Amino acid sequence: MNSHEHDTSETVRESVRADERPDLRSVHVREDVARSGRCGNVHLATGRTCILPERHHGSCHFVGPEDASGLTP
Ligand SMILES: [Zn+2]
Repeated sequence: MNSHEHDTSETVRESVRADERPDLRSVHVREDVARSGRCGNVHLATGRTCILPERHHGSCHFVGPEDASGLTP
């Protein structure tokens, strides 16, 4: 009863579509900021928000809420 079949099941990765914002699924993103085309990541330790363009390179640049609030018209 020797099966030569190997378990070839691969780890199926969920492909991220180009029009999706995976970071929007995170609870640590300010949606109002993110919807204005910004990163919107929230630094939980300080409560600051990243206002760099979405999918920006490098690390986030967090600013205080008073700076982030002026972004949305
Ligand atoms: Zn960021």
